Amino acid sequence: MSAPAAVPAAVPGFAAADHPAAGGLLTIDLDALTGNWRRLRDALSPGTECAGVVKANGYGLGAVTVARALSRAGCRTFFVAQLDEGLRLRPTLPRDARLFVLSGPAPGTAAAFAAAGLIPVLNSPEQIAAWADLARARDRALPAAIHVDTGMARLGLTPGEVAALAADGGVPPGLRPVLVMSHFACADEPGHPLTPRQIEAFRAARAAFPGVPGSLANSAGVFLGPEAYHDLARPGVALYGSNPTPGRPNPMADVIRLQGRVLQVRCVDAPGSVGYGASHRVACRSLIATVGIGYADGFPRSASNSAVGYVGETPVPMVGRVSMDLVTFDVSGLPADRMVRAGDLIDLIGPHNPVDDLARRAGTIGYEILTTLGPRYARRHVDRARRGPDRGDGKDSGS
Ligand SMILES: *Cc1c(COP(=O)(O)O)cnc(C)c1O
Repeated sequence: MSAPAAVPAAVPGFAAADHPAAGGLLTIDLDALTGNWRRLRDALSPGTECAGVVKANGYGLGAVTVARALSRAGCRTFFVAQLDEGLRLRPTLPRDARLFVLSGPAPGTAAAFAAAGLIPVLNSPEQIAAWADLARARDRALPAAIHVDTGMARLGLTPGEVAALAADGGVPPGLRPVLVMSHFACADEPGHPLTPRQIEAFRAARAAFPGVPGSLANSAGVFLGPEAYHDLARPGVALYGSNPTPGRPNPMADVIRLQGRVLQVRCVDAPGSVGYGASHRVACRSLIATVGIGYADGFPRSASNSAVGYVGETPVPMVGRVSMDLVTFDVSGLPADRMVRAGDLIDLIGPHNPVDDLARRAGTIGYEILTTLGPRYARRHVDRARRGPDRGDGKDSGS
């Protein structure tokens, strides 16, 4: 793969002396995050607003921290998936920011949305009725987004339900639609035939909501061109550094770096094996470095015998199975003067092995690597604009 034109600065790492007891050290570069948001915003047409999707605890990086950074960069609209996420995040956002909740009100929860100032995404005729009932009971207009399904078949009004709503005179009184939205199923697969069908279906559905701003594009949708833009884009994963254009160079900057602590280095003689199931056999005398990160930290077990770590510029293959708290690397290839020792750090996600690279080796996607980053890591936020370089042990809910 060729390098992107402008190579962004690598996420700085921890020094070995930092947090000596932590098996895993996670650096979150908030400047890279806000840089990615600006890059996406600038790629859109001038009339299209760029929101930030911060569901699943800000894709694992900390919803409060991420939303605060995006908010400082100028982001005014945010999306989470669930009511509880919204209730936690809403008080930390500026008053004029909008926070949408994608799953909408479950039965009996509409009042909680309204009380907290959360804007529900209404995904069904039942949710629309519940929100309109509440507006009538309160005798005031309540803002909401309407989700129309254009081919995802997951959430949202079917074309038939949209037609029925329109025939019925449109959205019920009291419900103030501030957004009509839909979601792509295959935006990250160039040339997929479903994408133009969804773009056309969305254009048709919007006719039932005259004057209401529209939103269709997720991260990959931002790279589909203006017909996907409408009034508001909803990027998530690209903000966090994962490639929204698979198969092409990543236009986004890396946001995280994950370093693992070497606990021991041992010599294993042939014939011998490493780890559970003896799945790695050593063919000749090998140096094995054991690192204090495991699947309990969200490091995927499916990356067993397949992930690659880096010591500086030098790759070291992961050998043996990923255990709950430990992984093992064959470091025999390191030159003697660069040999790792107990206490040293190995990059598990870094400039040479970014999130998507680990995801591919584990048979998954960057989304899953990000959203399962574990609570045991020592976390540090880089925020040069605010606190100077390499500072800030900012805390966020790891949950
Ligand atoms: C998660 C989600 C997004 C963000 O998608 P990315 O692919 O992460 O950019 C946007 N819209 C909806 C409805 C979502 O569920």
